[in-house]
Parts: sequence; structure tokens; C-alpha cells
Amino acid sequence: EGSWENCAELMDKSLPAQIIYYLITAGEVAQDLKEVVYCVGGFVRDLFLKVPNFDMDLVVEGDGQKLATELAERLGGKVRVHDRFRTAVVTLPDGTKIDVATARTEYYEYPAALPKVEKSSLKEDMYRRDFTINTLAICLNPGHFGDLIDYFGGRKDLMNGSIRILYNFSFVEDPTRILRAIRFEQRYRFTIEADTLRFARDAIERRMLGRLSYKRILAELILILNEKDPVPALERIRGTGVWKYLLPEIDVDDVSWKTIKRVPVVMGWWEEQYYSRKIKPWLIYIVVFFAQLSFEQVEAEMQRYPFDRYAKGCIMDSLGIPALAEDISRRSYLSPSDLDKMIASVTNENLIYLLLCIKDEEAWDRVARYLDLKDKIELEVNGYDLLELGLKPGPIFKEILDELYYLKLDEKIHNYEDEVNTLKQWIEEGRFTHAVRI
Ligand code: ATP
Repeated sequence: EGSWENCAELMDKSLPAQIIYYLITAGEVAQDLKEVVYCVGGFVRDLFLKVPNFDMDLVVEGDGQKLATELAERLGGKVRVHDRFRTAVVTLPDGTKIDVATARTEYYEYPAALPKVEKSSLKEDMYRRDFTINTLAICLNPGHFGDLIDYFGGRKDLMNGSIRILYNFSFVEDPTRILRAIRFEQRYRFTIEADTLRFARDAIERRMLGRLSYKRILAELILILNEKDPVPALERIRGTGVWKYLLPEIDVDDVSWKTIKRVPVVMGWWEEQYYSRKIKPWLIYIVVFFAQLSFEQVEAEMQRYPFDRYAKGCIMDSLGIPALAEDISRRSYLSPSDLDKMIASVTNENLIYLLLCIKDEEAWDRVARYLDLKDKIELEVNGYDLLELGLKPGPIFKEILDELYYLKLDEKIHNYEDEVNTLKQWIEEGRFTHAVRI
């Protein structure tokens, strides 16, 4: 069945030695357990597309959890099993994660419901996947290492750049696949194959996406917004009439698309400048989308979508960002410490939103410079130094250290010696008489 090809050489060329070693070990474990193991899905797809992707998904014909447990043991990693789905995750000492599933058939009780699980083989496991390009499997057992298993013509569709479903009612069974099709199409610049597109349009017309829970909609929306450049996918979503199922409250014509298009650019710059300031890209897009809503409308969105606490806080705070941007732009000068007092507690996502809102170049530079200093500068003295200088502990300590920090942030003092001297001078001037121990 299918076409046969060995891709051990391609793997050798494209994958880090460490990854190959993990895969070989998985094959050996399977052999010992008299099972067969394959790596599948996005990992194999991206191997052929020469896109770096080291997220290993394994499917086991046999007992996936047993294999995962044994694999973790041999590689010195940890295993976490999920009984409900008969899957497991192996986490290795270097942080690599390997997902392990038991080959299975999933059948749906009714459209858009959660799958139930039943034991079965690789082909059936591949058959329940979204698109042919995701149905490729590579055998890892010794003697067959690198054998490509292609039941549904995924290799050919990969070469032709086609996104194709496996059976006609695929989109009815799981409408999130409509969004996944658009995401893959735009990410790889592929084309949704003609029949598949017809079935997608049909499912859209029949309002299948309306059956999905807000939870699943949000999950897919996050995946789209986390793409390197989600704009083409968003445009496709707009063009296919899918928008009203994603963010019905957002008027697509009122979205500042100019701002949206700047997000990936500014984010790229940010990641280079402030690589230690981690961001959730999707949240920045959400904040920009929500900019057109009133406070009450944003609150209503919080009720509908299961945002986590961090995201909720971020979205609520974003309502104040445009005014903050205007305030910052209006001032002719703001020192780093002035800015710290205004924006020290603003989340990284909202800082990017703030930068997107600032039109004035000087104001932008001031904020950028402040962030740079903020990441670099730290006080070297601490409470113990204050004690040693004879000060009595209390809330005043924080005030003293804050003021000293502001001086350092403004580059008026530069090192430990400067800090101690400043403190001594302040004491001499009698500034903390009530705090000095007698
Ligand atoms: P990415 O590069 O975005 O991580 P991926 O293919 O690894 O792509 P996942 O969302 O991690 O994407 O899914 C893993 C695999 O599970 C996919 O290869 C896909 O075949 C399958 N899959 C995910 N969601 C669905 C779905 N809704 N219906 C069918 N199969 C799905």
C-alpha cells in the first residue's frame, strides 16, 4: 500500500544528531517491546519542506504509554501520561519534548464534539487527520528506520503544494479544519485543492463554524495569530466569510490594518532588541483588534472567550494605552526615570502596543532607550548596605532604594561606589534623620 521511499539520508542531512539519536532509541525500545513506532505529522511534513521543526510526534502500534515510559527511562527523561487519550509526553533533560500516541481510530459522537478513543492501527490513525500533507509517517524500528509510509498521497500533495482533506465530510466533522486549512495554506504559500475548497465553502455556508465552542475558536485563533506573519491568513479569513465566526464583535472594516501589518515588523525588532522580554504574539493582535471596542464591549468579550488571567489583565490595561501614548508624545522631555514611573508595570505586549500607538519619533526613541536601560541597569546596594550605614529598617528603605535606582536609570550614577557615596551624602544632608539609628 502507498508508495515506498526511505528517508534516512534526508533525516541525517536535515536533523540535529541529537534528534536522530532520540528517534533511533525510540525504534529500539519499540523493537524490544515487539511494537512498531513511527514519527508522524508536522515533523515529517516539515522534514520534506526543509522547514526546521523538531517537535517529535510518535505513533505506536501497541502500547504508547509503555513505550514512552521505557523511552524516558533510557534517555534519562521524565514521562507524563494522559490516560483519557492514551497519550504520553516524554520530556528529556535538554528540554526536548516527545509526544507519544497509541495508534487509534477516533470517532465523533456528533459533529464538533470531543473525540472518543478506540484502539487501532497506523492507517486508521492517519485517516482521522486533517489533511493529506499531515498523514506521512516514518518508521523508526531497526531495519526499517526511515521507511516512509504514505497511505493517502501526502508526498505528492506536498510536492504540488496542495492542502487536501481525506474524506468529504471532514469539515463537517470538525469545522476547525477550515481554519487549519487557511493557516497551512498561507504559511507554506500552498493552495487549498479545488474539491477541498468547495467542501470548505459549503461548510462555511452551512454555518458549521457556528457550532464550535468559544474555547475551540480561541485556540485556533491563537494558532493563526502566532504564525510568523498572520496577515495573509487574516485576509483569507476575511475573504471567505469566516471572520464573523472568529471575532463577530470586531468590525473588520474598522480594524486598523495598517497597525496590524506593523505588528510582525515591530515584534521582530523587539525580539532582537529585548530578547529577554518574552511576548505572546497573539495577544498583541487581540489588543489591536479590541481597540475599536468600548469598555463594556471588551468586558463582554472577557466573558465569552476563555482568556487566561494574564491575557485578561493585559486586554483590560490596553484600554489605557492610546492615552498613555499621547501623553508620552506630547511631552518635550521625559527622563528614563519619568518613564519608569509611567510604564514600569505595563506588560510587554502592551509596551509593543504603546510603541505602535506612538507616532512621534523622538518619543519612540525615548521609550526604546528607557527599555534598554531598564534591562541593563540594576542597583548594587541593597537593604543590608542601608543597615550598615546606620539606617533603621522600614518602608523608607524602599523609598530610598527607588530614588537611588532612578538616579542610576538616568545615568547620573554608575556603580556601587557611586551608590554608597550618594547614600552617605543623603544621610549627611540630614534627609533621613527620622530613619537614622541613634
Ligand atoms: P504546527 O507546525 O502548526 O505545529 P502541526 O501539524 O504539528 O503543525 P498540531 O496542531 O500540533 O499541528 O497538530 C498535530 C497533528 O495533529 C497534525 O499534524 C494534524 O494532522 C493533527 N491534527 C491537529 N488538529 C487536527 C484536527 N482538528 N483534525 C484532524 N487532525 C488534526
